[in-house]
Amino acid sequence: MSTSTQTRNMPSSEVKQKQSASTSAVQSGRSYTTEDAMPYKAWVAKSAKQPMVLETVDLGPLGPEDVEVAVEHCGLCHSDLSVFTDEWGISRYPAILGHEVVGRATAVGPNAKGLTVGQPVGVGWYSGSCMHCHQCLSGSHHLCPQVQPTIVGHRGGFATHIRAHWAWVIPLPEKLDFAEAGPLLCGGVTVFAPLAMYAKPTDRVGIIGIGGLGHMAVKFAAAYGCDVTALTSSESKFDEAKGFGAHHVVSSRDSAAIKKLGGSFDLLIGTVNVKLDWEAMIGTLAPNGRLHVVGAVLEPIPVAVFSLMLQQRSVSSSPTGSPVAIATMLDFASRHNITPQTEHYRMSKINEAFARLESGKARYRIVLDADF
Ligand code: NAP
Ligand code: ZN
Repeated sequence: MSTSTQTRNMPSSEVKQKQSASTSAVQSGRSYTTEDAMPYKAWVAKSAKQPMVLETVDLGPLGPEDVEVAVEHCGLCHSDLSVFTDEWGISRYPAILGHEVVGRATAVGPNAKGLTVGQPVGVGWYSGSCMHCHQCLSGSHHLCPQVQPTIVGHRGGFATHIRAHWAWVIPLPEKLDFAEAGPLLCGGVTVFAPLAMYAKPTDRVGIIGIGGLGHMAVKFAAAYGCDVTALTSSESKFDEAKGFGAHHVVSSRDSAAIKKLGGSFDLLIGTVNVKLDWEAMIGTLAPNGRLHVVGAVLEPIPVAVFSLMLQQRSVSSSPTGSPVAIATMLDFASRHNITPQTEHYRMSKINEAFARLESGKARYRIVLDADF
């Protein structure tokens, strides 16, 4: 295990120094952690695709607007895998991944608002934003130009603790199943947000890709009251998709079957990160229909204006959701008893868990349970 010198090598300190006080707080300010607090340990990726190793890091004092959370469970999102492999070219090493955290607040900075030590909370894809730009002040903190991703230039949740700005530390509803709630914090809100923005209960909604995000999308859309079609490339998921609430299931690889859906969806949410027959997918949209892509597809999606224009269709995308969207989604999930279907691994099996996700065999979201 390395010593506190590791702290100085972490990218987060560089990023933070350049940002405003409210988002820079992770590395500065007085600490309110109790004397007997557990030392900070984390699973660290030293470089792309190298097995993660356990290290001890001296975090230094807690920032005045920050909250420290003792991690109990953390979901494993495909975005963790993409940052681990540097698929997007934005990774910063050493990296501490994990951005679907649930735990309890263990320390609250003196200027942090609305949270108390011991409170059950969650942290998702973002951990801070400037709090003074137009977007932050209008409630769209996730669109802040300085928004801080939890696992890029910041220490994530595959660790004993995570620190985040108070606005991004979301209280968990009491009724929510604590051990299963982690995946809601990123995957859940990412698919809930477009439903909240665009769907009506009378809509016909399609969900492409029944993985971590997709299976939660089916559950949310069904609870909204929509007519739900799951589009999956895995025949083995047909029955389970119906179990999640899908009324219809179609192969996402069968262009002929997709063409038969022509003109039917008011909202089609894409959660895959691969190339599909996008022309056929756009053809399934009803007049005023929308293809909303949340999966990180790297290849451009070809869009012919005429396939949009005459039916007034649109194509859009969004990153995760705002703190209020996360809180609203958690409340909705708690009210409708929506939790992801999970496979639990001890956090010390992190490298096996990443391999399992990469294999495409996970059903449907992996959650790592802290075992430091
Ligand atoms: P995941 O659990 O691995 O699920 C992805 C699904 O895509 C798979 O289950 C599979 O569903 C489908 N798929 C994979 N390979 C395919 C192929 N070759 N052909 C057809 N379908 C294929 O991943 P996830 O955690 O849900 O994340 C999905 C994407 O969303 C990732 O790119 C992730 O980075 C991104 N993401 C974006 C945001 C955001 O803020 N916009 C937030 C979180 C995640 P079927 O077996 O049903 O076909
Ligand atoms: Zn994620």
